[in-house]
Amino acid sequence: MTAAITRRDLAVAACAGAAAALLPRPADAAPPAVGAPVPADALPAREASWYRKLPEGRVECQLCPRGCQVADAERGACGVRENRGGTYTTLVYGAACTVHVDPIEKKPFFHVLPGAPALSFATAGCNVECKFCQNWEISQFRPEQVAALWLPPEALAAAARQKGVPLLAATYSEPVVFWEYVRDAAAACRGAGVRPVVVSNGYIQERPLRDVLPSLAAVKVDLKAFSERFYREVVRGELKPVLKTIEVIRASGCWLEIVVLLIPGLNDSEAEVRALARWVKSNLGGEVPVHFTRFHPTYRLTNLPPTPLATLERSWRIANAEGLAFAYLGNVPGHPGESTSCPGCGARLIHRIGFEVLENTLKGGRCPTCGRTIPGVWA
Ligand code: SF4
Repeated sequence: MTAAITRRDLAVAACAGAAAALLPRPADAAPPAVGAPVPADALPAREASWYRKLPEGRVECQLCPRGCQVADAERGACGVRENRGGTYTTLVYGAACTVHVDPIEKKPFFHVLPGAPALSFATAGCNVECKFCQNWEISQFRPEQVAALWLPPEALAAAARQKGVPLLAATYSEPVVFWEYVRDAAAACRGAGVRPVVVSNGYIQERPLRDVLPSLAAVKVDLKAFSERFYREVVRGELKPVLKTIEVIRASGCWLEIVVLLIPGLNDSEAEVRALARWVKSNLGGEVPVHFTRFHPTYRLTNLPPTPLATLERSWRIANAEGLAFAYLGNVPGHPGESTSCPGCGARLIHRIGFEVLENTLKGGRCPTCGRTIPGVWA
């Protein structure tokens, strides 16, 4: 396997996939060789870990809050889980449609091994439908519509170790829909000297979250807005379960960072940002990093402009004023809001431009000037 595999290399085969979707997929099809393409007519089929059987061959998925009830030969809303004779199966276990080495700042994590590379992977599928999705070419397609390689969990962990990459990141589309793959990849990282991290929308039921959380080094949650209306109309999800997920992660001790993509006119009002910041402070404390990132027109929101810098800076000031010690700005290369400063004395600790770390003066997780502890995964 090569770290230079990109999404573009593994081009979406939507047209071919539309025909392939009609082909039968033998349930007992042997997996291809490690690193080989996954044929659309032989997707890996593995029993899902979180579901219950219902009468008349139906099943109820218990992975995400949608709780899809699925008849035989049908799929859940994410398109990657199928009822096969009363057995619910995941069709993307080990089928990585993108694998790439990214700086951890790109996820973004700013308090996890600054400057370290992360072997990043994803499968097709998602359990929501954000109108602003940046990875819609994989998230909004079924697995037979997206080219993929057979990379079982052990192969991912081994590849990271062989390349000297300290982090394995489940990211790009939505790790919740390939949660069994995430769980087993995280387990494979144990003993390989690799730390597994997840970049997620947080739209997951509590049991599968708690089942996997102890194996993870860090989770970044996209908090897409602070209103149910936005979640309903722009995301096709719900805010409340995401807030619950964030609280569970924080209480577990797993490292947590939050990202808020500010979209002009939809979720960027002063009142909404202030309410979000207050919720974080009172429910999670002031030490959780919160990144406000700039929106660029994409997918179904090409009619909107990029987020004005003034809006980002206003949100940054609100977060600071509400007591969040580590508020950041994203997608504004060179802005001071990309860097980490000590909340105790104000000294700049980690200087970033874009995804690049220019300087890191932290000493043992502390500010070298005043000695304040800076929370994170530093060693
Ligand atoms: S993970 Fe997929 S199948 Fe399961 S409830 Fe969510 S959308 Fe439905």
